[in-house]
Amino acid sequence: MSELHKFIFDGLPVRGMLVRLDDGWRELLQRRAAADAAFPAPVRVLLGEMAAAAVLMQANIKFNGALILQVFGDGPVKLAVAEVQPDLAFRTTAKVVGEVADDARLEAMLNVHGKGRCAITLDPQDKLPGQQPYQGVVPLHGDRREPLQQLAQVLEHYMLQSEQLDTKLVLAADDRLAAGLLIQRLPVEGAGNLASQRNEDRIGLDEGYNRIAHLAATLTRDELLTLDAETLLRRLFWEETVRRFEPQTGASAPRFACRCSRERVAGMLRSLGREEIDSILAEQGRVEIGCDFCALKYHFDAIDAAGLFMPAGQQPPGSSALN
Ligand SMILES: [Zn+2]
Repeated sequence: MSELHKFIFDGLPVRGMLVRLDDGWRELLQRRAAADAAFPAPVRVLLGEMAAAAVLMQANIKFNGALILQVFGDGPVKLAVAEVQPDLAFRTTAKVVGEVADDARLEAMLNVHGKGRCAITLDPQDKLPGQQPYQGVVPLHGDRREPLQQLAQVLEHYMLQSEQLDTKLVLAADDRLAAGLLIQRLPVEGAGNLASQRNEDRIGLDEGYNRIAHLAATLTRDELLTLDAETLLRRLFWEETVRRFEPQTGASAPRFACRCSRERVAGMLRSLGREEIDSILAEQGRVEIGCDFCALKYHFDAIDAAGLFMPAGQQPPGSSALN
């Protein structure tokens, strides 16, 4: 079962979260494999890390809408996406256009010419008229233009730049599990607080965060993928007083779920126009559209397709296109 653990450190302005996506992550990979559309291994690792990171980021904010983490690449991977709903339902996909080497990391996959970008979009569920989704974008290189090889580094950069939050992120994924640990300095509330705090107190609190972030950074990929939450937190923070909240497991746990539907596919086909659809029908006898996220295939035959372009209420009997 997938799980999400939240915790704080007694007396310190530091919060932490640990996520382990197992059954949902495996289901996602199995669907791609069953549809003969499995991603190359390094892309699977990247997508797993993105899914874990996006769940952590969604769980970290109180926002009624989708959090969409995208990396736009200029190499063999054109795009990688992880999307997480407020109930922690997640899905991921990628667009791979070239050969991905077995040992390819972020730069070789997405930042070959230094033009790769990472975007985080918050798309509100009930948009007000004219309301635009919020989007923050960071490059895939560090302050000295050095290319970053880890998604975690890119996201730490984003958190600092766009939210002024010191964050330590450790991510790992294989075909069995996608996992992540997030340690974050809690924002100080109100500038007045800052001024009223004595210098020594502030330095003490900073040291607390630095110590815990340093401990988190010692976590290896292997440990993150093999240790259960209990063991991992105890080993990492055994000298700290960790206060844990009720873990989100079972029904409230992160899970794989796709938002595609026949209706949405119908809308997309309609926007292609009658002529385009007719030419596909003439050539192939039916229109087949596969979902990029869950690999489900939607089929429209000539009768379904005719129904697409009829005014509402006049669909031919037996058409399932708009039901
Ligand atoms: Zn789907």
